[in-house]
Amino acid sequence: MQVKKVFVLGMARSGYEAAKLLAKDHVVLIVDGKEQIKEHVEELQSLGVTVKIGEDPVVLLDESFDLMVKNPGIHSSHPAVSKALELHIPVINEVELAYHYLNSKAHVIGITGSNGKTTTTTLISLFLQEDGRKVFTGGNIGIPFSQFVLDVQDGDFVVLEISDHQLCDMNDFKTEVSVLTNLYPVHLDFHGSFLKYQEIKKRIFSHHTKENLAILNKDNNESVLLTHDILSTKMYFSKQDEEDCFIKEGAIYYHEEKIIDLKEILLQGNHNYENIMAAILAVKKYDVKTSSIQKVLKTFQGVPHRIEFVRTLKGRSFYNDSKATNCESTKIALRSFQKPTLLLLGGLDRGHSFDDLTPELKNVKYVACYGETKNKITEYCKQQGIACDMFLNLEEATKACYQKSQEGDVILLSPACASWDQFDSFEQRGDAFKKIVNSLGE
Ligand code: ADP
Repeated sequence: MQVKKVFVLGMARSGYEAAKLLAKDHVVLIVDGKEQIKEHVEELQSLGVTVKIGEDPVVLLDESFDLMVKNPGIHSSHPAVSKALELHIPVINEVELAYHYLNSKAHVIGITGSNGKTTTTTLISLFLQEDGRKVFTGGNIGIPFSQFVLDVQDGDFVVLEISDHQLCDMNDFKTEVSVLTNLYPVHLDFHGSFLKYQEIKKRIFSHHTKENLAILNKDNNESVLLTHDILSTKMYFSKQDEEDCFIKEGAIYYHEEKIIDLKEILLQGNHNYENIMAAILAVKKYDVKTSSIQKVLKTFQGVPHRIEFVRTLKGRSFYNDSKATNCESTKIALRSFQKPTLLLLGGLDRGHSFDDLTPELKNVKYVACYGETKNKITEYCKQQGIACDMFLNLEEATKACYQKSQEGDVILLSPACASWDQFDSFEQRGDAFKKIVNSLGE
């Protein structure tokens, strides 16, 4: 790149990694409104980066800059972004930046979609690793591409989860294989309309030719319609029809080859079959052995906090779905189990009702609720005729579920609420649950 002076807007993890990468051969200024990790600030300063915390980026930005790298969470209407564009300074994001530093002939696989990105990204990486390939996993999954791009060598695999926010400021980024898991009307507040959101998602296929592969969900009409004119070779997965990867007679098939019986798969939930099929199509392009795929599917317990299997104790199976911070996600989790279920519900009260859960309650035999929403949940369960008790915290609620359970039951944390009344994050809540569950029966 012929860029000399770079303005990094927004620090956090990706801005920090971008600035570190750029500092090797550019003049870099990074700005953020919030206090940052002290060690990161000091490290950047030691690399010659100018770090400005709490200063107005609009004032700091002038025509002497050649490029702006913006954090994907910052909207394009941000005054500093508008000013950059007025000054004809190109604006890109960290993934696009890292892509320019990719010097090797690596296989780049990009995964986007409304739901299932992290699970599909993880599965693809695990299948490849199990098959003995060298894999770098990153992007929206939490590890910035910039952190490892210089370590990637010819023939390695780069598996990137790409959010719609990240797709907004991409120009040259190109994958060898792109997966679009599905499209639902989400994040409309950020993009303004479903149409705009879909157009942005379509960029995951940018610069594709027929040499490149697009992996698409045949059962999701929006995905099929959106991609009718992309230039990639298309491969479809479906739960209903015999496409390139599909489900028939209780097993997953890749064309004529049976890959695995569904009952051998540890991951729960119909939605995960979609993620698994998408991942199979991605790795079959590289002739990953079926035995490698099978081994992962028989042992992979799920991405942490997403219907993650925790343990079995005296015939009860415990699952952590702490990522379910709304009723929609809890419904997906409930749909995933056909066994009697004891459900842990509760958390921050955002004023929402629990009525949306009603169609999925048929296997729920008991609810233990806690947190700010406990009174509301108790009232709701009373209306639904489901046994329910109120507890002060997650620990008491979990122990009560165990006491009330029988052999063969599922005990599920899928709280349908944000965690912030009692925890810092859904991850902290899920970790707390796993700790409680693992201490039971001791
Ligand atoms: P993302 O990274 O897109 O947020 P995850 O893989 O982290 O997706 O899964 C988050 C939640 O999204 C899951 O707990 C589940 O509720 C839902 N989900 C996952 N995969 C799918 C899918 N293929 N279709 C519909 N919902 C899904």
